[in-house]
Amino acid sequence: MYTTRFLDLPPLAAAAGTVRLPGSKSISNRVLLLAGLSEGITEVHALLDSDDTQVMLAALQQLGCVLERDGGVLRVTGLGGRLGVHDAQLFLGNAGTAMRPLAAALALLAATQGGDFRLSGVPRMHERPIGDLVDALRQLGCTIDYTGNDGYPPLRLRGTAGGRLSTAKAIRVRGDVSSQFLTALLLALPLVAKDSHIAIEVDGELISKPYVEITLNLLARFGIVVQREGWQRFTIPAGSTYRSPGRVHVEGDASSASYFVALGAIAAVDAPVRIEGVGTDSIQGDIRFIEAARAMGAEVSGGPGCLEVRRGTWPLRAITLDCNHIPDAAMTLAVMALFVQGTTRLTNIASWRVKETDRIAAMAAELRKLGATVDEGADFIAVTPPAQLTPAAIHTYDDHRVAMCFSLAAFAGVPVRILDPKCVAKTFPDYFEALFDLVRTPVEAIPVITVDGPTASGKGTLASAVAKALGYHFLDSGAVYRATALSAMRIGVAAGDEAALARIAATLPLHFVGGDAHLGDQNVADALRAEDVGAMASKVSAWPAVREALRQLQLSFRRLPGLVADGRDMGTVIFPGADLKVFLTASAATRAERRHKQLISKGISSNIATLRADLEARDERDRNRSVAPLKPAEDALLLDNSELTVEASMAQVLQAWEQRRPFA
Ligand code: C5P
Repeated sequence: MYTTRFLDLPPLAAAAGTVRLPGSKSISNRVLLLAGLSEGITEVHALLDSDDTQVMLAALQQLGCVLERDGGVLRVTGLGGRLGVHDAQLFLGNAGTAMRPLAAALALLAATQGGDFRLSGVPRMHERPIGDLVDALRQLGCTIDYTGNDGYPPLRLRGTAGGRLSTAKAIRVRGDVSSQFLTALLLALPLVAKDSHIAIEVDGELISKPYVEITLNLLARFGIVVQREGWQRFTIPAGSTYRSPGRVHVEGDASSASYFVALGAIAAVDAPVRIEGVGTDSIQGDIRFIEAARAMGAEVSGGPGCLEVRRGTWPLRAITLDCNHIPDAAMTLAVMALFVQGTTRLTNIASWRVKETDRIAAMAAELRKLGATVDEGADFIAVTPPAQLTPAAIHTYDDHRVAMCFSLAAFAGVPVRILDPKCVAKTFPDYFEALFDLVRTPVEAIPVITVDGPTASGKGTLASAVAKALGYHFLDSGAVYRATALSAMRIGVAAGDEAALARIAATLPLHFVGGDAHLGDQNVADALRAEDVGAMASKVSAWPAVREALRQLQLSFRRLPGLVADGRDMGTVIFPGADLKVFLTASAATRAERRHKQLISKGISSNIATLRADLEARDERDRNRSVAPLKPAEDALLLDNSELTVEASMAQVLQAWEQRRPFA
């Protein structure tokens, strides 16, 4: 997951390959709640691991459910409809799929078995309406207080054991603000339907019906068959009890699939994008996104549990579509609209305004930043792309879907900055990694920053800090030479044997695991830092055949979203076209002092004068060798970091980088 302040996507070209989707958020949280209320153990397979499910899991655990992980399987021991804990404060983040049904279930349990529960979330959660659900529960006789603003969380749910609810009359609930209120009631009411049936009547036109279908479908799997009359009246039969089906497999998330369906429609030119985990047999309403994508020009085929998408009509076709049946996935259509000629109009999307953020306002503002003409109203958005997009920094409003759908704008030939990329953790923590896996972009389009300089100039520390801040890959090219030196030393190859050294270099099994260098399956991070290995590396690296043999390996680090490479010749030989080249010029005296301190901190004694002489000898060798001598590239930014902290040096490099970016 990218936890950087922003993630810059360079202009992206084509896409192909296979993505395995994480589990559906809607199914995961419903299944968890049902398993938590059931008698017995439910094995949940392929559960989504994200912020919203973490919140639900933590709440269930607080309420006394036993959760056991076994590889990819979660075993939930349910409460069997009986409260184990009668007093709890639950923090539910920004997860509507946890807040609404837990509020309903705990209100009913407190009212009948006694309890005092407080439910709260992040500030945005306290702006998301819940009044219609509370009103419905109060009709039954539940005691619910708003402890913040009326109509919104936080909530306090109270009751005494033995309390009775009035279930004789049908409960009325509004269906035109969020279908999650009805879902919450449907999931929770079986708790109190032992002796008599309970009916729910929906006021107003029910929106997002497919989500209610998921609810009914999962209730049936847990033994509760709700009778439905149209979309107006639902009856939970008397004697309903939650019965664990034993094992549940969570489908991939159909809303998450929309980004990859769109990716295929926009960029699967030569080979398809294959999506695994959700298919044409899905129970999720957002699967119908594929119809909308087809209408815009995508070629989509599929079967059970998988989809394949290719670019069809190009540019895409403008459509006008009532999106009530695919409220979440429809956001992706608003970004696909950047790839059509004409105006795409998405209607009946009023629910966007009460989601993670006001999504109509958010989409309109960010699409405009890219240069699109956007018309918005209470329940629609209309998007007309410009002839040429403007690069933009996309604000993501702590809304995973804004971040994910706007990443696709990078296929319109401009770089796109996604601010706060970690918000995707709500449903798809590794979204960007999955995207980069599928993208085929010419390497020249992938940004590179080089940091060169003499031994002990602090370039490794600086370069890795810059890479971390930008979410870029990091290449410590010194490690490449050191690893060659170490391998040579281990099998007794001499520093003078160019041909043998080059052979070692050509097949060096070097790779990095979490920043540590490995040779084969052995972690050699510490071994590479030994002084004798450094001295050998300095000699080994002077051989042209060795340098040539290691070139390809170094180039292979240039991967999306970008690379920061440090060494001696990163800006001059390996990446001469780098977007920013930094050359550190710390004095030999400063470097010797730093190395001295470093060694002391590791408990190794040394002598500054000897260290300095050694550094100068290495500088000399690096500067005067015939190939790739140490020297700044002509267009390098010279940075004398003798007097600078790492943070100060990093600030200078990031500032120089920012000046070269188009996001001002
Ligand atoms: O930077 P570091 O001290 O880890 O590098 C080890 C040796 O590898 C250096 O002494 C230098 O001679 C060599 N080297 C090189 N070109 C690079 C990186 C390191 O010649 N790009």
